[in-house]
Amino acid sequence: MALTGLEIYKQLPKKNCGECGTPTCLAFAMALASGKGSLDACPYVTNEAREALDSASAPPIKAIKFGNGSILGDETVLFRHDKTFYHPTTLLIEIADTLSDEEVQAKLQEIEGLEFDRVGLHYTIDGVAVVEASGSPEQFAKVVAQVAAGTERSLLLLSDNADALKAALPGVASRKPLIGSATEANYEAVVNLAKEHNVPVIIKAEGLDALAALVENAQKLGHKEFVLDPGTRTPSQTLANLTHCRRLAIKKKFRPFGYPVIAFTSKTEPLAEITEASVYVAKYASAIVLKASAKAHILPLMALRQNLYTDPQKPIQVEPILHTVGEVNENSPIYITTNFSLTYYSVEGEVEASKIPSYILPIDTDGTSVLTAYAAGKFEPEKIADILAKSGVGDKVNHRNLIIPGYVAVISGKLQEISGWKVIVGPRESSGIVSFTRAM
Ligand code: SF4
Repeated sequence: MALTGLEIYKQLPKKNCGECGTPTCLAFAMALASGKGSLDACPYVTNEAREALDSASAPPIKAIKFGNGSILGDETVLFRHDKTFYHPTTLLIEIADTLSDEEVQAKLQEIEGLEFDRVGLHYTIDGVAVVEASGSPEQFAKVVAQVAAGTERSLLLLSDNADALKAALPGVASRKPLIGSATEANYEAVVNLAKEHNVPVIIKAEGLDALAALVENAQKLGHKEFVLDPGTRTPSQTLANLTHCRRLAIKKKFRPFGYPVIAFTSKTEPLAEITEASVYVAKYASAIVLKASAKAHILPLMALRQNLYTDPQKPIQVEPILHTVGEVNENSPIYITTNFSLTYYSVEGEVEASKIPSYILPIDTDGTSVLTAYAAGKFEPEKIADILAKSGVGDKVNHRNLIIPGYVAVISGKLQEISGWKVIVGPRESSGIVSFTRAM
């Protein structure tokens, strides 16, 4: 939470010397509060004041960056509707270092194939977690090197054995992997290794009290790029811990928990595992390590993540231009809908299923659905007629028939009158398009 000017002023030297470029300390404090200056401009600010101001003005959950553009944390609210969630949960699929070369290669191939297009956006799995299960630092380093060579995705190197991390990390440090885990038993070695290679590190302890104490000890080593693992591996306890961490970080500004949190699934049956992971996506894992890697299992998790991590004030929208489905011709029907992605792609999917090449003209309704747009005056006959004329679709077809959503049948008369096109009232729901086209 940002500090007020008065809160900042209390920490300043109050010399009013003007050397910072503003005539008084109060003016300087106000400038800082509005983000128009740097504390460095005052040569007299004490180290204690600097630390207090830096700490108080830090975000409630630090952003941790690793790998190929993965960003964890930097969240500011408990509930999505309070503002928005910013950084979608990073999903990593584990590869154990006990697999053979061929098995590692096959797993990597499967992971590389995890690409999805949904409501106009493209998604892939974010990273690979190489898990040391062999007990051999050399074997772990070998598999880490193989995985690094086989994928550009973000890497997580996972072992409680500092020697295994020491063996594997130098070869891939330039990829800035996340490493873990620093525990009570090994944290000095593992945190110092992370500090030496400038990579973030997972701090793991059993229970929240132990975790807070371990974070504070780890901070004293001079490295602050942490991701937290509360240690528990049962879904209910993990959910409780993730929720406590988020609440304490956001509501209480409890500094030891001001870091993103990682979760590990405990279920082995894929559908149970995805259900478990869904809970952690909703509350409040910044990263999840999964065993499942089949497309059919990962897609629902990605869809849930996408839905939670869109800004509720900015619905996903498609470009409000004339779209085509299939090889359109002069007889192709024309569907009118809104530019709300979920609405548009539902319509597009059903039009595709009808197997009739068609035009779809989404009206710019600021990404709202048909009824919401109509209620807000954004789906009016005048507007639709204007967009229809500007789209040029009249030159592409030899008919003058328009299909509008059944929910706005009420505008059909006026739209027909203004546009000069014959308005056909289509089904209320897009799911009725196929049977509607068969009946036409
Ligand atoms: Fe105050 Fe420091 Fe600015 Fe001088 S330089 S006016 S002490 S804030």
